[in-house]
Amino acid sequence: MRVDIITCLPHLLASPLNHFIFQRALKKNLLTLEIHNLRDYTPYKHGKIDDQPYGGDAGMVLMIEPIVNCIRALQQQRNYDQVIYMAPDGKLLNQSLVNSCSLYQNLILLCGHYKGIDERIREHFVTLEISIGDYVLSGGELPAIILLDAMVRVMPGALSDGSSALTDSFQEEGVAPPVYTRPYDYEGIKVPDILLSGNHQAIQKWQEEQALLRTQEKRGTNY
Ligand code: SAH
Repeated sequence: MRVDIITCLPHLLASPLNHFIFQRALKKNLLTLEIHNLRDYTPYKHGKIDDQPYGGDAGMVLMIEPIVNCIRALQQQRNYDQVIYMAPDGKLLNQSLVNSCSLYQNLILLCGHYKGIDERIREHFVTLEISIGDYVLSGGELPAIILLDAMVRVMPGALSDGSSALTDSFQEEGVAPPVYTRPYDYEGIKVPDILLSGNHQAIQKWQEEQALLRTQEKRGTNY
């Protein structure tokens, strides 16, 4: 998969992208990632990319030219499956949306800032809008990283243990069962004995039951 991220704050992305999961996906060529600084695409002086909103509201709005110049420059090089704008009022991100996005070949992730981006970009150039939740952050960079992390986790070969992502919460209906590790006995709080029984069938049955119970407890019976 190739992902192009358009941002006015490229340095915000640097640290999370150093995380070993991304690094492994990049090394294994599961992921090609390019980050584009909006200021490199502006026709205005001094790297200007934002202006005051028409109508006189407070805050600044990202202008149409730098964003569309960048999108068009990328689209001249290859076809993109989606131009995704990270937006608080977009489609709510969940595992099934992550899974379907992870199947695309080429994606543009557009990060807004300030009051957001000129509406004409959303109407004419964006093909999918994704929100990470009903709250407002200062920029689309962290949401883009969240989407990218979730997509990389489900790419075959990205995790050291390939089956690990498939047993995570929300891959099937419901959440994952509880997990434990050493020590067996911590100040009298013990690991459920079944997990030490060596009986794989019984362990699997227990895990399924626990997952069901936990789903009802944490997400309600109608989940
Ligand atoms: N004025 C806008 C909020 C702008 S926040 C409104 O009220 O809807 C600035 C930028 O942060 C947005 O352009 C978007 O790219 C990003 N952003 C903020 N919250 C987000 C969320 N929950 N999910 C995805 N992106 C978000």
